[in-house]
Amino acid sequence: MKKHIVIAGGGIGGMISALYLKKAGHDVTLVEKKERLGGRLAFVREKGYKIDEGPTIVLLPDMLKGIVQEVGIDDTSLDLLQLDPLYTIQYQDGTSYTKYYDLERQLEEIRRVFPKEDESFLAFMEEMTERFQKGQQAFLEKSFHEKRTFFTKDNMKILMKLKAYRTVQSALKKYFSDERLRDAYALQTLYVGGNPYEASAIYSLVSYSEHAHGIYYLKGGYASLVDILEKQLMAVGVNVKRNETVEQFEFEGKRAVRANIGGQSVEADAFVINGDYPAALKQLGLQEQDRRKYIPSSGCVMVYLGLNRVYQDAPVHQFFMGKQFDQHMKEVFQSKTVPQDPSFYTFNPSIIDPSLAPKGSSVLYMLIPVPSGQHINWAEETDFVEEMIDRLEKRGFPQLRESIVWKKVRTPNDSMRDGLFEGGSFGLAPNLFQSGVFRPQVKVPETENLYAVGASVHPGGGVPIVMQSAKLMASVLLKDLNERKEVKRSG
Ligand SMILES: Cc1cc2nc3c(=O)[nH]c(=O)nc-3n(C[C@H](O)[C@H](O)[C@H](O)COP(=O)(O)OP(=O)(O)OC[C@H]3O[C@@H](n4cnc5c(N)ncnc54)[C@H](O)[C@@H]3O)c2cc1C
Repeated sequence: MKKHIVIAGGGIGGMISALYLKKAGHDVTLVEKKERLGGRLAFVREKGYKIDEGPTIVLLPDMLKGIVQEVGIDDTSLDLLQLDPLYTIQYQDGTSYTKYYDLERQLEEIRRVFPKEDESFLAFMEEMTERFQKGQQAFLEKSFHEKRTFFTKDNMKILMKLKAYRTVQSALKKYFSDERLRDAYALQTLYVGGNPYEASAIYSLVSYSEHAHGIYYLKGGYASLVDILEKQLMAVGVNVKRNETVEQFEFEGKRAVRANIGGQSVEADAFVINGDYPAALKQLGLQEQDRRKYIPSSGCVMVYLGLNRVYQDAPVHQFFMGKQFDQHMKEVFQSKTVPQDPSFYTFNPSIIDPSLAPKGSSVLYMLIPVPSGQHINWAEETDFVEEMIDRLEKRGFPQLRESIVWKKVRTPNDSMRDGLFEGGSFGLAPNLFQSGVFRPQVKVPETENLYAVGASVHPGGGVPIVMQSAKLMASVLLKDLNERKEVKRSG
């Protein structure tokens, strides 16, 4: 029987959920408080330029394409370009290390920059191959809303094999003797806002995956995925409401029965929350459902630039390491202060995609990991941003200042205003006790028909992983609906 499902939030999690649920034959209403869908998948547009505001690195292409296909979209509509080299890491001592998808080129590069570490790299890749397969099946593809399904003998064995009890940095000591190389394979925890000195070694699988599965670029920018999904939402008849907020749910016992949307009461059989989990629960007055104290991921200061030239020699993705990576991480995650000498990431997509800027011009993006939280008033930290632009010019983009046509800055204060938990960019921190069964699950506790999807929900952050969270959520929701129907029939 056709049911009605209301989804609160049109981020990637909400959109993919809507498509799965619609495909199963239900009526779906997708409510987005902003004018546009996509959430963190968005563009900054200015003077005929556009650049991704958030995600830039396309990982796990097979997961991404697989899910897109499952929700009925021909995957040829995704114009994915494989990047090889993957990216370059610039160290303060002048060393430059480039990562490649091609194994032979990678080994040559390791031998050039870190002689004698090539065998260790091969050992890293070999050991991670099995761990990735096991980890993916055991954790990424399963929901743990019923806790007992996590604490099985097999899962515990896999967790031991994944060295989940160690941190990323300490687990890498087994392979790499040079600290710079360890940093090169640990910094990826920052993609999901985690501290490599604290995050579980499970997250070493991210740096493995870059080599094993590649890094891609979506032509037109990652946020053009939103247009593709939006087209499909319209084609299949999802009822999309923009500029409307789900303000509250009305319950009868443990069952949500109505959503209050902009003062109107809308009935449905099931409801999905796509806002950033702990902050969304608070906004919806549902704190009682989950009283755990969660830790946010790191925040980012983002600098977006429109330039009147193209830096043809600068790679698409680049990391510039500060003098002491560990000190930067302490400032972000422990002392929670404005970093003094931060490592940062740059995105220079115009060299492969001229559609982003007027002819002969380009866009450039700098991401600087900073503490989340409300305690820093970033509006007063203008010197910090200016100093970072100076460093960018000095370390990789000569004559940058004179090439700037426009500049925009985003800080954790903006993320907080957008409803992200504690202004963290990536959802809950990927600590061991906020991962797997310990992360909020796709079904909200103590409710019969309220579900959650998104970066703060299992399996975690990053576009393909959030899509996977939508897939898990939809399968749990549909199973519940089926079982409810059966109960009714037999009664
Ligand atoms: C700077 C940055 C860089 C990143 N880089 C990468 C990267 O390179 N690769 C990668 O894969 N990932 C990256 N990510 C992570 C990725 O963007 C996120 O994991 C993903 O987009 C999160 O999707 P989501 O559906 O959980 O939530 P969101 O994108 O936050 O969407 C939630 C939506 O819900 C809406 N909403 C909330 N509450 C309500 C309500 N009550 N009623 C109606 N609407 C509501 C919000 O307005 C929003 O549109 C990056 C993120 C950031 C911020």
